[in-house]
Amino acid sequence: MMHVLPIAGPGPVRATFLARPNRFIVRAETPALGAFDAYMPNPGRLRELLLSPTAAGKQPFVVAGVERDGDPVMLHTHWNNLVARRLLEARLVPGLETAEVVRAEVPVGHSRFDFLLRDPKGDLLLEVKSCTLFGNGVAMFPDAVTERGRRHLEELAALSRQGRRCAVLFVVHTPRVSSFQPDYHTDLAFAQTLVAVRRDVRIIAASVRWNADLTLDETVRALPVPWTRTAREAQDRGAYLLLLHLPEPCRIAVGGLGTVDFAAGHYVYAGSAMRGLAARMARHLRLRKRHHWHVDYLRAAADRAEALAVRSSTREECALAGALGAVFPAGPAGFGCSDCACPTHLFYGGSAPPLDQRPFHALLERFRMRP
Ligand SMILES: [Zn+2]
Repeated sequence: MMHVLPIAGPGPVRATFLARPNRFIVRAETPALGAFDAYMPNPGRLRELLLSPTAAGKQPFVVAGVERDGDPVMLHTHWNNLVARRLLEARLVPGLETAEVVRAEVPVGHSRFDFLLRDPKGDLLLEVKSCTLFGNGVAMFPDAVTERGRRHLEELAALSRQGRRCAVLFVVHTPRVSSFQPDYHTDLAFAQTLVAVRRDVRIIAASVRWNADLTLDETVRALPVPWTRTAREAQDRGAYLLLLHLPEPCRIAVGGLGTVDFAAGHYVYAGSAMRGLAARMARHLRLRKRHHWHVDYLRAAADRAEALAVRSSTREECALAGALGAVFPAGPAGFGCSDCACPTHLFYGGSAPPLDQRPFHALLERFRMRP
């Protein structure tokens, strides 16, 4: 279920999510209104929240939030600074209880920061980020690469070295978490920058709770950031999942494995690179290359390919393959596992994209979000 707001008229309406034809449009329906389009003000990918259709412009509605496990998760990014201002004015932001809001949208150099605050120690620049990615008790940000967000961190660190006080506040839109980490799986550069600037820039993460009627609860909790663990894990190494789609059944000569018949549909392959993970994933997505691994032959026949990093300091490839085996049927025996005892590292996802399947998201959360 999701919450949509009529552009004209009273309060939010609960509707069933149907589809997201593009970044800015969501299709939803209610028994009274039938199917309709709503404007989506959040450009994030939100793939773990918008699972069609079983999950909980000019459009007459705008999406406000989506329900997960019965709780609303705020998706309306335009509201985020209003939320932050309300929390600041209510003295609810952990560590900023004595700060007053002096001004919003503060231009400094070529950038604009969300708030200028003043407390007994002086002025403080505050940048606010909205976090809707969470699972396994852990909140993570960002859910898509944000070079702009990374640059903001560096600018704040530079201002701090010039003597200005600076802070970043991550507002996590669920109470169901007990820690916050930068999402080094999705945006390694952002995560490494956050780790690097934390001595110069105060990093605050706080969870909020939304009531069922989409009013903001007054319960705000400070979330710890496990910095030592994050610094260790946020490196360019670990495992990856390669998602491939075969548009039609194929018979493929797979190197030393011989000729293998593949059904049409989606496949998931588990691999790892304990050095140069990003380059390895980029190589898998490229078509022009000499075939080296079994999966290179399958990649050549695929019309869609996507790589998801599961970064870690320990080798998780076989554990991932084992977990995939509990979710999807096994692919050909011996595929991609010449160096280990696994039956296979390739799995058949069926006709629906794995990222539209809840068990696959649960697996990703288990490996990516470590409490
Ligand atoms: Zn293995």
